[in-house]
Amino acid sequence: MTKTFEKNEKRIEQDIIALSAIIDSVAPGYTRRPFTKWHLESREWLIREMKNCGLDVRIDAASNLIGKRQGVNPELPPIMIGSHTDSVVGGGRFDGIIGVLAGIEIVRQLNEKKIELAHSLLIVDFTAEEASEFGISTIGSRGMVGNLTEADLGRTNAEGLPLRNALKVAGGRPDDLETEALKVGDISLYLELHIEQGPVLEQTQHELGVVTGIVGIQRHKVVVEGQANHAGTTPMHMRFDALPAASELVLALEEVANKTYTEQVVGTVGRMFVEPNGANVIPGRVVFDFEIRSLDPHALDQMVEYMKNKIAHVETSRKVSITMNQLSHSDAIIVSEDVVQGVEKSCQRFGTTLRLPSGAGHDGNQLAKVAPVGMIFVPSKNGKSHCPEEWTDYAEVVKGIQALGTALLSFDKALSV
Ligand SMILES: [Zn+2]
Repeated sequence: MTKTFEKNEKRIEQDIIALSAIIDSVAPGYTRRPFTKWHLESREWLIREMKNCGLDVRIDAASNLIGKRQGVNPELPPIMIGSHTDSVVGGGRFDGIIGVLAGIEIVRQLNEKKIELAHSLLIVDFTAEEASEFGISTIGSRGMVGNLTEADLGRTNAEGLPLRNALKVAGGRPDDLETEALKVGDISLYLELHIEQGPVLEQTQHELGVVTGIVGIQRHKVVVEGQANHAGTTPMHMRFDALPAASELVLALEEVANKTYTEQVVGTVGRMFVEPNGANVIPGRVVFDFEIRSLDPHALDQMVEYMKNKIAHVETSRKVSITMNQLSHSDAIIVSEDVVQGVEKSCQRFGTTLRLPSGAGHDGNQLAKVAPVGMIFVPSKNGKSHCPEEWTDYAEVVKGIQALGTALLSFDKALSV
């Protein structure tokens, strides 16, 4: 029996159309928020498909849906393939769901070809990967690796429902989180297929992306204190205008992010408040957040240093006072060279392949705490994601599935010896 994965484009297209049709009809775009009836309905659809291909289905303590295919060697820790079926509000049809469907399609083909794996295979639909009403993302994968704290479980949504109770709505058992948490060595490898959610593959004309890591993120809050005053009567040289001072810092961030580093960096000011925000008042106070992302923590530290120096300079030159405080930070995940090479070899059999970092967070951030992770990206048309226009050609999704299945077979062999 030949060990290559078939195209089966029609079957994948039907799966994507069926699953992406289960949405909140009142909300914009393709909305399937976690813990809602639409998410639970999509779970029913998945459970049926998982059972149809012989998977042993269960829901874990963190409410993740898991289908298991038994391996030949019960002593080997399982290999996991996963993604998510929850969406952002007004999201698209491909983000997350293609990764779960890929797992199911791979199992179907393994069955059809009567291929037994040495490792057991787990296909996972993680709960609430996207940023949630509870203020955190990747809730299911956090829970799976023991990274949901009591404080996290006490977080509430707009209706005052604690996360602990929301997990129960999706079939979770928060009291069992600690005992069920995966530890290092419990999983041999975690693999995921996802849309790129950016323009790089399309613009460089590559069909498949091998993810080299998931960027680390630092967010900082900057407060610029000047002096509000009359916009007509205060001469220019007597002003302490907070907004031009803040503007210098916004441009400084762009400048430092445009420098050359060993790894790509990006910097963004996406949020700014001007006080008192009147057309005829000199801004007395400006508050803005900036975030920076890179695989290289040193590059991020260099950027922060640059911003601190710039702040000192602007304080002196404009006679305003400026504070900067770190709001949050997450460490970068580096995919091991072994995994990158294994995934890359599989991808190259099916299409033109590019190595690239993931600028967005994924469940892999959490799984990396207990296992090696590998990810494959397929192109996003016009680089668009988290919107109804999000699109990836079915033929490209299929190439991703073939590459993922082939990578699974090679790692199943390599990790058995
Ligand atoms: Zn996603």
